[in-house]
Amino acid sequence: MQKQGKISVRGIVQGVGFRPFVYAQAVEFGICGRVKNLGSEVEIIARGDRFDEFVAAVSRGPPMARIDSVRVADFPGAVPDGFSIEKSATGSFSGMIPPDIAICAGCVADIFSPGGRYEGYWATSCVNCGPRYSIIGAIPYDRERTSMDAFPMCTSCAGEYGDPHSRRHHAQTIACHTCGPGLRLMDRTGSDVPCGDPIRKAAALLDKGKILAIRGVGGFHLACTEESSGELKSRLGRVEQPFAVMVRPGYAEEIAVVSNAERELLESPLHPIVVLEKRDPASHVSVSNLHTIGCMLPYTGLHHLLFSCLEHPLLIMTSANMPGYPMITDTDVALAILSEDADYFLVHNRAIANRVDDSVVRDGYILRLSRGIAPKRTAIDLGDKCILGVGPELNANATIYKGGFAVTSAHVGNVRNPATLAYLQETIEKLSRLLGAEYDLVAHDLHPQFLSTRYAREIAEDRGIGLVPVQHHRAHIAATTTEPCIGIAIDGVGYGDDGTVWGGEIFAGQVPDLARVAHLEPVPMPGGDLATRFPERMLYGVLPNDTCLDLLGRRGWTDVELGVIKKQVATGFNVTMTSSTGRVLDAAAALLGICRERTYDGEPAMKLESAAAGGTPEAWEPVITTAGGCEVLSTRAVLSTALSRYTAAPAGDKKTVRDIAASVQYNLARGIAALAVRAAEREGIHTVALSGGVVANRAIRETIRAEVAQAGLFFLINDAYPPGDGCVSFGQCVWAGKITQQQR
Ligand SMILES: [Zn+2]
Ligand SMILES: [Zn+2]
Repeated sequence: MQKQGKISVRGIVQGVGFRPFVYAQAVEFGICGRVKNLGSEVEIIARGDRFDEFVAAVSRGPPMARIDSVRVADFPGAVPDGFSIEKSATGSFSGMIPPDIAICAGCVADIFSPGGRYEGYWATSCVNCGPRYSIIGAIPYDRERTSMDAFPMCTSCAGEYGDPHSRRHHAQTIACHTCGPGLRLMDRTGSDVPCGDPIRKAAALLDKGKILAIRGVGGFHLACTEESSGELKSRLGRVEQPFAVMVRPGYAEEIAVVSNAERELLESPLHPIVVLEKRDPASHVSVSNLHTIGCMLPYTGLHHLLFSCLEHPLLIMTSANMPGYPMITDTDVALAILSEDADYFLVHNRAIANRVDDSVVRDGYILRLSRGIAPKRTAIDLGDKCILGVGPELNANATIYKGGFAVTSAHVGNVRNPATLAYLQETIEKLSRLLGAEYDLVAHDLHPQFLSTRYAREIAEDRGIGLVPVQHHRAHIAATTTEPCIGIAIDGVGYGDDGTVWGGEIFAGQVPDLARVAHLEPVPMPGGDLATRFPERMLYGVLPNDTCLDLLGRRGWTDVELGVIKKQVATGFNVTMTSSTGRVLDAAAALLGICRERTYDGEPAMKLESAAAGGTPEAWEPVITTAGGCEVLSTRAVLSTALSRYTAAPAGDKKTVRDIAASVQYNLARGIAALAVRAAEREGIHTVALSGGVVANRAIRETIRAEVAQAGLFFLINDAYPPGDGCVSFGQCVWAGKITQQQR
């Protein structure tokens, strides 16, 4: 018997080939009707004998779709014979913006298929793959609202676009040699380099050791072979910071240990940078002087073609920007800014509407939320208000909550400078436009001086709407769970309730009522931010004693310098107090002579972790005291034991350094876990939630996990968001939403 109805599918149903998928199912099940894109949902009118089977098939969706709900309603009208895909209507928008998708296997095969229409074409894509967010100017996602609007389809492409049996049926990014975006190879003056094939020539230049700026999906990379890494480092003035690499398929396994989960991730539609453990920690040091290396696989046709011509199996591929600044997207800007850094420029002429960096993942946790993940969308009930979270200061992004969904932007950077603040504003404006968001509330960091805080105040004043300040580490916990929990935030630095610098905090309760119940011992940061840059200052802040002064003296500190810091700590002049976990790790790195100056975010702690790899930790008894109603873990006790072990050992003994580094991490983690377990017992709470930048440290994270599990408690990390500051804007939204829900 024939059955008919209206099927509404909500979720990420745009840019993922949903309409052609529905068409194919209709043909399969002999269904008549039509499918239409309404912006936030796909509407299907259907009639046929196998209606229910058709609904079941449609509910599964194509591979890249994320389906939130499928509703079937009566449709009393006439349903035409045949099945058609109708033009999109511009209906209501609710953040269904698809992320960029790495080139699929089918398209890679097309590129290398001799004589085919797509042979050698760098921007080959289909309904299952290709750029999305990076080219979207507005939704619904249709060609005329993307950067592809500038490239009208040729007859062959138009034919495939309209062919229900083609993988490119209704593929908005369909393009070929004839009609699509093209490539140019230029020298640093912007003059064309004579060559038949820009990719072949670019590969030859890379093999010869040249440094190329390559315009990719979401911005520029600087690329070179491993042999040229020294040159690239000196040009960028980035001597210590590890580079990410793009490797020929199969090569990651040769240089690093790749688990099945990591291989799946490398090859997933995200194609992120995956931080892998090197097979030999002493290998590829010119790329990464850590025991890890960040690898990704080619994720566009251009990359695949480049590697097919390249002799080297590995290319350094680093975002072309100053650390913390936005990635460069425009060719003119790249030529102006990178002419000293790059020898040649390989560029395409497809506009980048939204900047996206490469995403970074380690052990399944997102370290940078960007290409392939952003915009990150989460179904969550935070009430009726539309909320903007402007994020913290470092590793910032923004989140907008509207109508049951929180949508987080791609990584923005360090909003410490006006250029990055401008980028944050631009990101917020674009995302608001795409979502049709008119906010009722702005959530921001508690820090009064952050540029993002000032920006939040301006928005609130302009629009006459409410402001919600959110303490940094509570935002971390809010991004992890809204259930009752003991929340552990192990982090760098964040402004605390009492105006001191927090970063090793234990909370108890339920968002938005999280009481600080325990923390790391507050220690002085002599010279404030200087102690972050020079970890030896931090070391003396934690251990202000003669043994430490002797050690610093042997490291080349002059008597005058020692006198100044001694006086500074004794008098408290220009000294900030901090309970930051990151700063304790910095001090440990300084103690062991691993890092004397921090040249990039997280450097001392990352080097400490590398130094500890393979070490045997020794268990030291945690020292826990009470102050101001909170339990306090003595970090002085941990570092004091480390110092005595270090001074007792023969100088320069690598095994000693390794074991002490491992012991510091182990005992700090054990102490933090003890604070949490004791708080859980006192409060009668059974869930322990962990967040903060230090979660990236495998040894510390796994020790805490093991200790918490050992105590019979449920342990939780939200792997959908970065544990570092990339989750803070989301946490701010959650916090503000929960406050308004509580007030109702
Ligand atoms: Zn494809
Ligand atoms: Zn074409």
